[in-house]
Amino acid sequence: MFVLFDIGGTNMRVGASADGQTISQSKIIPTPQGFTDGVKQLKQIAQKLSEGEEITGVAGGIAGALDKTKSILVASPHLTGWVNQPLKVELERIFDCRVELENDANLNGLGEAVNGSGKGKKVVAMITLGTGVGGARIVDSKLDKNIWGFEPGHQVIIPEGNLCNCGGKGHLEAYVAGSYLEKIYQKKAEDIKDDAVWDQIAKYLSIGLNNLTVFWSPEVIILGGSMIKSLPFEKVRTYLKAELKIFPTPPKIVLATLGDEAGLYGALELLK
Ligand SMILES: [Zn+2]
Repeated sequence: MFVLFDIGGTNMRVGASADGQTISQSKIIPTPQGFTDGVKQLKQIAQKLSEGEEITGVAGGIAGALDKTKSILVASPHLTGWVNQPLKVELERIFDCRVELENDANLNGLGEAVNGSGKGKKVVAMITLGTGVGGARIVDSKLDKNIWGFEPGHQVIIPEGNLCNCGGKGHLEAYVAGSYLEKIYQKKAEDIKDDAVWDQIAKYLSIGLNNLTVFWSPEVIILGGSMIKSLPFEKVRTYLKAELKIFPTPPKIVLATLGDEAGLYGALELLK
C-alpha cells in the first residue's frame, strides 16, 4: 500500500494506492497551519485509508521550495508553519518506510504528463494557471533535471511591466494569473465577460507559451488550473501559431484531465 499526499496552500489531499498504479481512495481537508498538527492529521488519514494494510511507500508534494535534498520546505508564502521543519525525517519516523518529497506543481505536472493528457508523449510542458502561474518540464515520464525547479510564470513578457509578487517586473504571471486579473480588472476571472479583455490575456499567454516552446521544445503543452475554464483556447492557439515561426508546427495545446488528483498521480510516479 502506498500513501500519497498533496499539501497545498489551502487544502491537503491524502490518497492511497493499493496496486501502485491507481488511486483507490482519497480524502481532502483544509491544510493545517502548524507542522506538528499537519503531520499528525496526515498520519491519521493515512492509517484510515490503508485499512490496516502495511504501508510500504509514502510520497507527496508540498506548495513551496524544498532544499536540495528534498527533505525540508525552505520557503513558502502560504505554509509558513511548515517552513524549516524536518518533514521527510518525521514522515520516515512515523511510517517507517521510504518517503519521497517534491514541489507540488512539479508533481502536478508529472501526474498529468504520465497519466493524463501527456500520456505517451516524450517531452511535455505543463502550465498551471491559477492564483499564480506554475509549470514543469517532463521528459520520458520523469521531471527534467533542475537546480531550483521550474518557474515559467516568472519569465519576462513585458520589459519594465506590471509588478509581480516575486518583486520582478513584467512577468507572465502578472498578466494572466487569477490573483492579478482580480487586481487589474476588479473582478474574478470567471466574472470577466469582456471579449477584448480575454483577447489581450490570450495574447499575453501566447507570448509566454512561445518562449516556453523555443526553450523547452515540447511535443505538447498541457494547461491546467482553475483559470482554464475561462480562457479562450482557440485564441491562444491562433496567437501562438502566428508568433512561433522557427518550428514547422507549434506544440499541441491540450487541457489537463486529472483535476485535483494530478498531484497524487505524480506522487505515485515518484515511488515507481
Ligand atoms: Zn515574478
